Amino acid sequence: MSISDTDLKEASFWEKEGDAVRCRLCPHSCLIKEGKRGICRVRANLKGRLYALTYGKVSSLHMDPIEKKPLFHFKPGRPVLSFGGASCNLRCQHCQNYAIAHVGPDEIPLRTVPPEEVPTMCREQLSEGVAWTYNEPTIWYEYMMDTSRLCKREGLFTVSVTNGFIQEEPLRSMKGVIDAMNIDVKGFTETFYKEVCKGQLAPVLIACEIAKEIGVHLEVTYLVIPTRNDRQEEIEEFCQWVKDRLGGDTPVHFSRFHPDYKMVDLPPTPRSTMEMAVSTARSKGLDYVYMGNISTEKGENTYCPQCGSLLVRRSGFLTEVVGLKGENCARCGRRADLIW
Ligand code: SF4
Repeated sequence: MSISDTDLKEASFWEKEGDAVRCRLCPHSCLIKEGKRGICRVRANLKGRLYALTYGKVSSLHMDPIEKKPLFHFKPGRPVLSFGGASCNLRCQHCQNYAIAHVGPDEIPLRTVPPEEVPTMCREQLSEGVAWTYNEPTIWYEYMMDTSRLCKREGLFTVSVTNGFIQEEPLRSMKGVIDAMNIDVKGFTETFYKEVCKGQLAPVLIACEIAKEIGVHLEVTYLVIPTRNDRQEEIEEFCQWVKDRLGGDTPVHFSRFHPDYKMVDLPPTPRSTMEMAVSTARSKGLDYVYMGNISTEKGENTYCPQCGSLLVRRSGFLTEVVGLKGENCARCGRRADLIW
């Protein structure tokens, strides 16, 4: 893609600072000089103003099961029209989408999809909603928000799959615009975030709490990486934090690591480690704990936290409701914490 003046959209959340501009979208708070870009590569200082370079510039567009995001408790079984753009504001060494997330927008093919076309595309593809996913949605915030508002007006749902590395004001502005999020908590130490992701943990945890507070349906994913974030104590601390700050009814997805990108010297996560993570989460009182990226007979099913009945059976991306009466457990009547 070559970026022309007609592609430019003035960015939100920035201020002038001397000859430079300070971006206030994510916690990097980049100070960007004239003609330069921020860490995310898609926001640039052009003649003293900050511009979003990838407004409407789409790298990936697919219909996916919503379970692939993963979201298990929001619109179960629904396919969702899913959009990705270019680049990222983190630099995770294990990124599985590095071909679009670790390149600049000038380095990959991008097609233009104006926001006003998206609701029609959803209707044509029989999608009830739109998902911002594949790369980090925060960095094309203006496009995500403009398009999501149009989708909401048409009765469509909106989903963001994000690293949660965003400042408070733009996140709070998503209230009523984004319905559901899956936020990656990539590890539970600042050391991990600094060394492996070139980011920080604390803002991500704050983002999770704010998402809950503003009424977004939240699920959390933790990718378990051998020797890097798989100590039982670290997983215990993470689970305790979920329980205390997000609530025991927050769905948690433990995902298995596979060697990728710059982290090919580690083995895939052993099954025993995945099972440890799940049982640790249950012992901390989390109601809905899942295993992903690994073949599992029961690890993706939803069970009633009160009586243990099978409520939703999942196999691959096939979702089958088996134990519900209305929105409650058919056996004991407990609320099933699923949004239809
Ligand atoms: S969104 Fe991009 S330009 Fe803005 S602070 Fe984050 S990395 Fe820097």
